[in-house]
Amino acid sequence: MKRTMVFRWFIAAFFCVFILMLCPKVDIEKVSGEESRDSLIVGVPDDRCPVFYVDGESGEVTGIGVDLMRAAAENAGFEAKFIIIEEKNLKEALDNEKYDVIMPFGSAIESALGRPTIVTDNLIQTPFTLVTTNKTTIPPMNELKVGMLKSLSGGAETVKELYPGVDISMYENMSDSVEALRSGKVDALLHNSYVWSYLLQKPAYSKLKVHPSAMFSMDFRVGTLDNADNRVLIARLNSGIERLTDTKRQAIVLDHTSRKLYKYDLSDYLYEYGVIITLGLLLCMMMAALVVMKARTTRLEQEEKMRRMIDHDLLTGALSLNGFKKRVEELLREYPDVPYIISYNNIKDFKFINESFGRNAGDDLLKFWVNRSLDLLSDMEAIGRLESDHFAVLRVMPGDDKLDRDNEHVFAPMRNFFTYRGKDIKVRIRSGVYVLTPEDYQQIDVERMLDCARIAEKKLREQKRDGFEIYNPTQWEKGKRIAEIVNHIPVALGSGEIRVWYQPQVDFDSGKIIGAEALCRWKHVQLGWISPKEFIPALEEAGHIYELDCFVWETVCRDIRRWNEAGVRRRISVNLSRCDILANGNVAEYFNELIKKYGIDADQLHIEITESAYVEEKELLAETTDKLRAFGFAVEMDDFGSGYSSLNMLKEVAVDRIKLDLKFQDDTGNPVMGNIIIKHIVQMIRELGMDVISEGVETGEKAFFLKEYGCTEMQGYYFYKPMPCEEFEKLK
Ligand code: C2E
Ligand code: CA
Ligand code: CA
Repeated sequence: MKRTMVFRWFIAAFFCVFILMLCPKVDIEKVSGEESRDSLIVGVPDDRCPVFYVDGESGEVTGIGVDLMRAAAENAGFEAKFIIIEEKNLKEALDNEKYDVIMPFGSAIESALGRPTIVTDNLIQTPFTLVTTNKTTIPPMNELKVGMLKSLSGGAETVKELYPGVDISMYENMSDSVEALRSGKVDALLHNSYVWSYLLQKPAYSKLKVHPSAMFSMDFRVGTLDNADNRVLIARLNSGIERLTDTKRQAIVLDHTSRKLYKYDLSDYLYEYGVIITLGLLLCMMMAALVVMKARTTRLEQEEKMRRMIDHDLLTGALSLNGFKKRVEELLREYPDVPYIISYNNIKDFKFINESFGRNAGDDLLKFWVNRSLDLLSDMEAIGRLESDHFAVLRVMPGDDKLDRDNEHVFAPMRNFFTYRGKDIKVRIRSGVYVLTPEDYQQIDVERMLDCARIAEKKLREQKRDGFEIYNPTQWEKGKRIAEIVNHIPVALGSGEIRVWYQPQVDFDSGKIIGAEALCRWKHVQLGWISPKEFIPALEEAGHIYELDCFVWETVCRDIRRWNEAGVRRRISVNLSRCDILANGNVAEYFNELIKKYGIDADQLHIEITESAYVEEKELLAETTDKLRAFGFAVEMDDFGSGYSSLNMLKEVAVDRIKLDLKFQDDTGNPVMGNIIIKHIVQMIRELGMDVISEGVETGEKAFFLKEYGCTEMQGYYFYKPMPCEEFEKLK
């Protein structure tokens, strides 16, 4: 019995131990079952903060959607793992088996491959809101053009189901969709309200307007392909969703909305602080530019210093031989119309001066020479020390007054340099002068010019003379006369030396005076009468003709006004030089202002432009002619037939009258042939529909001949010579 009892106890104990052994095992399994829940891969987007986004610190995807799903999954015994979908949109992600489920969906839709899907119950009712630019009213949803993000294509399908009339355009990203809204391609953008509450904090979007009235809600579900396994999965998830309390839902939403401040990216900073950043950048660029400029100026200054050292004589400050040559070349190129001379100057017995009074005294003399010369030289002139006491000077051709000034300011004080300092010695200077010829400007050879000046200086040395010797005296006389004419013009215009004379023009048929040409006459105070044939070309060359012509035009207009006031209407032709057109860019306007100033009519002025000018500068002359004619002035082509004739030009430039020049025709060739030519030219001009006047008519025979061939307007010594205004006024 005892043994039986013991056995029984043994059996009972064994069972107890067995049961005890079993009990903890159940517990352990239960615990470990809780820890190792079934895992669930959830594919989610990450582009819609605060619903789905990547946490900056942890780098994990999070958001309202994630937390809701995590809670629901936990309730259903899953451990949810969220991964960001790689596909363009949720529809495509549905076909990827990597994910167990995808979210969020408003309703079940077809996958991208056209497969049916199923969705869970609603996790939360999400509000969707319309946003517009600044519209207060928008059409009803069924007539609306709406923009949505491509990644919301599932949502777009749900919207389409709810509002079949809506026209949805999908955009790659938010900035594209906002661009479409702003450019009017869509009326409004539709998105999750939570996302808007985050995005509208972005400075660039701050002016967008939320339409609360257009708010509606959409379900927020989890979906997957429709098959048996997935139906079980969805059912299980639904059980989890069912156990999700509203308090929990609100806590999650609050958690992600209240603490989710919009994070500025670079574009936001640029938008917000763009002006300041731009100004800052500009400032930096300006400073950099300043630094570069400063460095450049310093370099240029240093280069200039070096250049000065090479090109200048250190003792006197004059140019060195090298510097002088360079400067002369520069000046001749810059002023090809200025008449220049080059002088080669040498102090007689300089060696003796050095030996007697010491080197310093010699140096002082040289410095004195250069300083005195520089006082008189303009920027267009130059002085160089070629060696020891030999100086070269490039000078604008001097008139007599200039030579006097040179003597007074440089040569006389030089002569007396030592006498003034109590020593009984006169300084003598020998100067060889070369007058530049037109060829010197074409082919600039400074060495050759200096050689010529040196030869003239040598002549003085050989003859034991001091003073000047001119290498090319004819050129010198010519140059001096031109210099006297040109330099004197400003004085002459004011002093009455220059007068306007008139040469009447007649109609040979009626014998009446029909007009006159204004020609200027100059009685130079020193040179006496100078012919326009001499001073007009000289002034043209020196660039002073415009001053003279302005004077002539003003005088003519003043005379016409006086005659008008006296009841005599006259018509005067004035000469317009090619240089005038170059000097005044709008000479036509100038004439128009002039007749307004004197209250005379445009048809009282004829403008003569010489034929050669038309040949040389066709376009410019044609343009000026057109403008003058548009203002009502008659334009005449002067000197026609005087040698430049290009008959072709007649069809290219429209003028009112051709002025036939007979002066040149008479002297040369066969007169019979000449007459045939004139006859046909007159006929041709007539046929071209232009008027014709002949000038230089010296004989009655010529006048009758011209009349016979249809040219009745004439000017020439046969009728009248040019005469002073007072005489012209007396003519009827
Ligand atoms: P031009 O414009 O061809 O002027 C006509 C020239 O022929 C004048 O010479 C006039 O005196 C001269 N002449 C008139 N009738 C006869 C004649 O029957 N036989 C001969 N052999 N000659 C006659 P002038 O006054 O010496 O003028 C010479 C040139 O100087 C003018 O030729 C004109 O080109 C220019 N000129 C004169 N005054 C002015 C002016 O105020 N401004 C401009 N730019 N040029 C002027
Ligand atoms: Ca003329
Ligand atoms: Ca003429």
